[in-house]
Amino acid sequence: MTVCVRFAPSPTGLLHVGNARMALVNWLYARRHGGEMILRLDDTDRDRSQSRFAEAIEWDLEWLGLDWILLVRQSERLALYDGAFAALRAAGRVYPCYETPEELEYKRRRQRARGKPPIYDRAALNLTEDQRRTLEAAGRRPHWRFLLRHEDIAWDDLVRGPVQFRGDHLSDPVLVRADGTYLYMLPSTVDDIDLGLSHVIRGEDHVVNTAIQIQLFEALGANRPVFAHLPLLADASGKGLSKRLGSITVASLRDAGIEPMALNAYLAMLGTGAPPVAGDSLAALAEDFELPRYGRATPKFDLDQLERFNERVVQHMPYPAVARQLCCMGLERADARFWEAIRPNLHRLSDARLWHQVCFAPIQPVVAEADFVAHAAALLPPEPWNEETWGSWTRRLKADTGRGGRALFLPLRLALTGVEHGPELKALLPIIGRTTAERRLRGELA
Ligand code: GLU
Repeated sequence: MTVCVRFAPSPTGLLHVGNARMALVNWLYARRHGGEMILRLDDTDRDRSQSRFAEAIEWDLEWLGLDWILLVRQSERLALYDGAFAALRAAGRVYPCYETPEELEYKRRRQRARGKPPIYDRAALNLTEDQRRTLEAAGRRPHWRFLLRHEDIAWDDLVRGPVQFRGDHLSDPVLVRADGTYLYMLPSTVDDIDLGLSHVIRGEDHVVNTAIQIQLFEALGANRPVFAHLPLLADASGKGLSKRLGSITVASLRDAGIEPMALNAYLAMLGTGAPPVAGDSLAALAEDFELPRYGRATPKFDLDQLERFNERVVQHMPYPAVARQLCCMGLERADARFWEAIRPNLHRLSDARLWHQVCFAPIQPVVAEADFVAHAAALLPPEPWNEETWGSWTRRLKADTGRGGRALFLPLRLALTGVEHGPELKALLPIIGRTTAERRLRGELA
């Protein structure tokens, strides 16, 4: 079977971590099995869908490194849905209903009061032709429900294992609203059929939809895809998909300096019980990707953990992997030697700017002990300098002044870099160079 999956966001907001994880898992599955991913924008809700969100979603996915062979917009495929709806109508699998939202709510409340599940009672099925005409003459427009078969529905879920539902435990779902627009259920199934999807991988909030859609696939004469439902993320406090998590967007993580591959590796491992491994490519992540590794327990998205992992990822990036980014940040002199000197001290890649400034732009040195640092300036050895220079220079200084430890190093660091902490001076010193070092030790802006 050729694997074809889809990621189907609604362009009603920015991509958040939960969406990104679902996109990633789909992409990894496709990649692992030599398949493809389709990007489907679920934009039938005309009031809430916006093209700027659609564009932001595409940009975020590209930033993560995820690609797709085809992009479809549901708003451009309405004729297909009309055709499927007509077929269901001809087969007697949809029926018009006239209840108002208030009437439906009243029915549900009564069912609950009697301890019964709020399942639609199919009252509209008993309306006579005359009654329907009367309702329509009074200005009511029908919404349309799918007539579920009251039989068992079962599938083998790639994450959850065997799943079973009883058709009579489900409400006949509304497919078309009274204003003629489609709800999610039918367009999604029609697209999954039309686009030849082999697998539908999505969140467990869609498990009931799957039970219904299995009957829709059958009613439309199509084979169903293989299904997989992943537990949704909770935030670190375990409070379910909270508002807080919804507000953690891919854009906000990018702004906070999270690297795309750190986010990919972190999201791919969440819920598998394994720690994230800093990989340098999506292809490497895909190599041993297995859906059954995701358990049924709710994975916790922990921003602090991601930040710590990101730090490790940044610190382990080899120069060729960051060279282009450093250049795009405008850090012209950021060569391999500079990168090796600073990377153990980075929390995020953007910190490289600070050290670039320290190495190559004029800074105001902090001269804590003028006599001592002036003496140090006088002892600076001639160039060429290398990583040994710092050791031989400070040994000489120590012998001369009797200073050691912090008393020796801190005034030098403050004068040379203007700050108290930072990368090892033995690596920075040759980059700063003799002329600049000497001027800074003399308290000059250099
Ligand atoms: N647009 C739907 C969602 O974001 C897609 C669900 C699906 O994968 O079928 O929940």
